[in-house]
Amino acid sequence: MPRVTADVKDIGLYINGEYGPAENEDIFEVTNPATQEIIARVSEATEEDVDRACRVARDAFENGPWGKMSVAERSAKLRKMADIILERKEEIARYDAMDVGKPYEATVGHEVARAANNIRFFADFAEKQGGETYPMGEEFINYTRYEPVGVAALITPWNVPFMLTTWKLGPCLAGGNTVVIKPAENTPLSVSLLGDIAKEAGVPDGVVNVVQGRGDIVGNALTTHPEVDLVSFTGSTATGKRILKSGADTLKKVSFELGGKAANIIFEDADLEKAVPESIKAAFMNSGQVCLAGSRILVQRSIFNQFLEKFKKAAQDLKVGDPQENGTDMGPLVSETHYNKVTSYLEIAEEEGATLICGGKRPELPQYLSDGYYLEPTIYVHENSKARICQEEIFGPVVTVIPFDTEEEALHIANDTDYGLNGVVWTENLQRAHRISHHVRAGTIWVNCWFVRDLRAPFGGFKKSGIGREGGHHSMEFFTEAKNICIALN
Ligand code: NAD
Repeated sequence: MPRVTADVKDIGLYINGEYGPAENEDIFEVTNPATQEIIARVSEATEEDVDRACRVARDAFENGPWGKMSVAERSAKLRKMADIILERKEEIARYDAMDVGKPYEATVGHEVARAANNIRFFADFAEKQGGETYPMGEEFINYTRYEPVGVAALITPWNVPFMLTTWKLGPCLAGGNTVVIKPAENTPLSVSLLGDIAKEAGVPDGVVNVVQGRGDIVGNALTTHPEVDLVSFTGSTATGKRILKSGADTLKKVSFELGGKAANIIFEDADLEKAVPESIKAAFMNSGQVCLAGSRILVQRSIFNQFLEKFKKAAQDLKVGDPQENGTDMGPLVSETHYNKVTSYLEIAEEEGATLICGGKRPELPQYLSDGYYLEPTIYVHENSKARICQEEIFGPVVTVIPFDTEEEALHIANDTDYGLNGVVWTENLQRAHRISHHVRAGTIWVNCWFVRDLRAPFGGFKKSGIGREGGHHSMEFFTEAKNICIALN
């Protein structure tokens, strides 16, 4: 039975500049996945609440001061938001540790800083953005303006709640839009603070709204709402398909960042001193609950045993424990449902004849974590890349190491997937690094590194990993409408 913590949080819906209850006063409870304690009671929006939030956002867009402000004024408020995020970084990271189970130390040092940077980057970007001009001889001239689209719905997943929301919110607000945000229902804490943060930064009421609740009700109400002009969604491929259908009647502009099953290819000339620790991060960071996880590790046969031995040792050295404690590398999985999904793959792996190298069970933990949804870092070896554990996104600390002989074979296995979010390649051979990078069908390829992000660079997926790109001008183009103005000069 879940216990209630002493300081259980009450979280309201943030609409038109204030936090308040749902119109029917319904709430849902959120638990800490490390302990199963109830940590928050959250107002659960109804369709009427979503309707109110969308209308408020529409009114703020059409009639409020946000759209009339100069770009410099808007950007100054966004920079203030970034400053406040940094001032409140401990609180934000504690919240993500509480409901996601994400290690606090890594979140406060990396993800929250990146969240502030997401907002600041697009504030700066909007100020520097130019347009295009196309003279037609002496008779006409065309020039381009980038105008806001209108009301945006930002729908985000539970694995990186705060940082991923700001990655959308920065360009959305910098482009002059207003917004209704919906975080995932099991991780509402950190994103709920964005209302407060926007207000303190001087963003006018009604520009930023946050509604809470389940995807099939609140998310669906947003993606079908006539006042919502665009949907920026990060989450599973299955939900992406649903949103594409539900947004069709009102012809919404969409951007989708979806699932992945990245190949992490390790050639015999790789520098294993670097490849092993980075492959460990790629496999087990955030308990493997990362869309970019290198969950299929393709290793050239000549170094297979050597790599596997080092990789296994490094995995067993990871400290699995309380996400709030410094030094913890891996926390729990996010929820019971997700734990059941991830651990179902342990049975599938056995049925498919995969060889278990390590993990596959609950770790030994202190008594107070005994109810947490913990799983040891788990490594399988499988020769058959068609096996379900090599094809499906497990989204947990479970990876498969697959041997290959030739470059052609590695490429074939890497591309033999429905997904195409990213790939990783480890080699000291420059020509091979380029060849593989060109031929792996994925939106990002990391060579001799993993998860290095430049906010100017395009980010997104090929195939079933997404539609569109985020980052730099790609984000700004999504969150604006390009308008051409053609002037007769005579
Ligand atoms: P999910 O698709 O179940 O949920 C994501 C969000 O969509 C949640 O807020 C949820 O409430 C909402 N939602 C669910 N059903 C909906 C509906 N019918 N209409 C509208 N909204 C709905 O995904 P998840 O389990 O929260 O997240 C994990 C998935 O996200 C993984 O597949 C992962 O790869 C993907 N992801 C992708 C990226 C990326 O950048 N490509 C980043 C992080 C996570």
